Amino acid sequence: MERQAFLKCAYCGKSLTVEEAVTASIDQRSRKDPTFYERQFHFDCLKKYRDERHDEQLVKEERSDWDACYQYFKTKLMGIDESRPMDKYAAICLRGLRVGLKNPYGAKTMTIKAGYSYRTILITMKYCSVQIQRAVMNKDFGEGNYGFKRKVNYIMAILFNHINDVQARLDKVDRQNKRVEKRVEERKPEVVTTAQTYKRKGTGKRRVVLD
Ligand SMILES: [Zn+2]
Repeated sequence: MERQAFLKCAYCGKSLTVEEAVTASIDQRSRKDPTFYERQFHFDCLKKYRDERHDEQLVKEERSDWDACYQYFKTKLMGIDESRPMDKYAAICLRGLRVGLKNPYGAKTMTIKAGYSYRTILITMKYCSVQIQRAVMNKDFGEGNYGFKRKVNYIMAILFNHINDVQARLDKVDRQNKRVEKRVEERKPEVVTTAQTYKRKGTGKRRVVLD
């Protein structure tokens, strides 16, 4: 039973044993048609997944983050005019990045924890935009659909190379913010100054400037 080593929870992305795995048929619709896939989950993860799918706010936020990602990729990185369509191959690749997979087929999943959020992807795109724009300017990808796919793959490779670093930086900011919040809660006099400085600087929300 060598296959069981490759089982992965579709929610948290961690490995699963055959005994742990719960199989569920889930709707992974992005926009139009419902598409059902059989997926394996940890028992608790399936519950969380179902709860979050029904959390309209969360789904709405992810949709709007996705739109921002898609538009940025299309107009700023691919240089395609907003009014023109983009081959769906690009969207498939972007969704692949969302779940941390280079081979994106059949991996479309909204609101799962594994991989990267569309927010992180968008920040990574902005972070790499100058590098990408310069690189694609000096490269001949060829004509037509073949050239288009090569260009998408090339940009995706750059994003894959940087997204872990960006995620690590975002996580660090998150941890720092949490630490400050915790100190404020504990009302330790020697650190209140730090918290005040922090509050004055921003809105109190996570705020990162990467470019
Ligand atoms: Zn899980």
